[in-house]
Amino acid sequence: MTKLLKACKNCSLITEEDVCQLCGNQTSKEWQGYVIIIDHTRSEIAKRMGINVNGKFALKVR
Ligand SMILES: [Zn+2]
Repeated sequence: MTKLLKACKNCSLITEEDVCQLCGNQTSKEWQGYVIIIDHTRSEIAKRMGINVNGKFALKVR
């Protein structure tokens, strides 16, 4: 069974939870695309998206 993944409306973190464990905001089922940040200190994408943790982040969250 595939778990339903959601993305945080605020920081774009992808999670299975209804509430983001990073910033405590609501998550949404409506998201598209994702990036995996392995080393946020060296990632241009992380810098651009304002991400300062490693993890999986959605590119677009509605
Ligand atoms: Zn969040």
